Amino acid sequence: MYDVIVLGAGPAGLTAALYAARAKLGTLVVTGSMVGGQIAFTYQVDNYPGFPDGITGPELSDRFKAHAVRFGAEFLDGDSTGVDFSSKPYRVSVGGKVFEGRSVIVATGMTHRRLDVPGEDRLMGRGVFVCATCDAVLYEDKKVIVVGGGDSAIQEAIDLARFASEVTIVHRRGEARACRCLLDIAESDPKIRFLYNTEVTEILGDKRVKQVSLRDLKTGAIRLVDTDGVLLAIGWDPNTSIFRGQLDMDGDGYIKAEGVKTSKPGIYVAGDLMDKRYRQVVTSCGNGCAAALEAICWIEGHHGE
Ligand code: NAP
Repeated sequence: MYDVIVLGAGPAGLTAALYAARAKLGTLVVTGSMVGGQIAFTYQVDNYPGFPDGITGPELSDRFKAHAVRFGAEFLDGDSTGVDFSSKPYRVSVGGKVFEGRSVIVATGMTHRRLDVPGEDRLMGRGVFVCATCDAVLYEDKKVIVVGGGDSAIQEAIDLARFASEVTIVHRRGEARACRCLLDIAESDPKIRFLYNTEVTEILGDKRVKQVSLRDLKTGAIRLVDTDGVLLAIGWDPNTSIFRGQLDMDGDGYIKAEGVKTSKPGIYVAGDLMDKRYRQVVTSCGNGCAAALEAICWIEGHHGE
């Protein structure tokens, strides 16, 4: 029996674990697929306070984890495959084992969205990819198309341009929604160009990506463009399917919460799942901290017995 089970090991989950463990609560972190969550895929985190020269995402993740471990948090690698929040203690299944917790902090984050076009699934991992940090080195001197117009798309394009010979950002609207600071960097990079009002309708290639079919959304014209890779950066969907029927959720799969408090007492939510607006490392750490402080209050009030 743990005092707190933290689901997810991104900045929110790791901060929650640090605070809970430091308060001497028995704390288990179920990491999901990757410690660090999205920052594990981020080449350089340039806006986390205290690191004026920036820090790589994996190194920041390692530091977050080491900090939680220092206070006694336990870690279990793997995905939680089911939960039972119908009665206390709350139960979490991981790889056939069931763990009990007086309190649970849900920080399971998000999964990359798909375009849902022909060729995408078949060529995933064979030219279609979702993470420049992980795969950019494979595209040295190659041409890559990045789909999307948010911060991720522009950041990924900048990261890719360190390796690729040409990066084309394909976006369905007439302007990108990414922040000006990232756009300024991308627009001044001679390897990056923008194709607005354009959508990808198909990804083609036999064993690997060779071409994409692009539709001009103003004229309707379709053309084929040669490319070696297609990076999808079109946003994220919440990882909340195991909480269906257990916690109140909205139509998009986000957990309904007041602050960090979910519909069930003693269960809290943190990170991107409760923050549709800011989604920064530092805001995730902030609400991970808040979730842990609420859990600490809950346990100290003996509600969790
Ligand atoms: P996002 O802001 O939701 O942007 C997704 C982009 O993909 C949008 O431009 C959207 O187009 C486009 N899109 C969505 N579905 C599409 C589809 N089916 N076909 C074609 N295009 C599609 O997601 P994000 O860029 O991953 O960012 C998520 C959050 O993380 C944001 O809050 C962002 O600020 C944050 N973030 C921050 C940084 C940083 O600070 N350096 C870096 C990465 C991410 P529309 O514009 O037409 O909707």
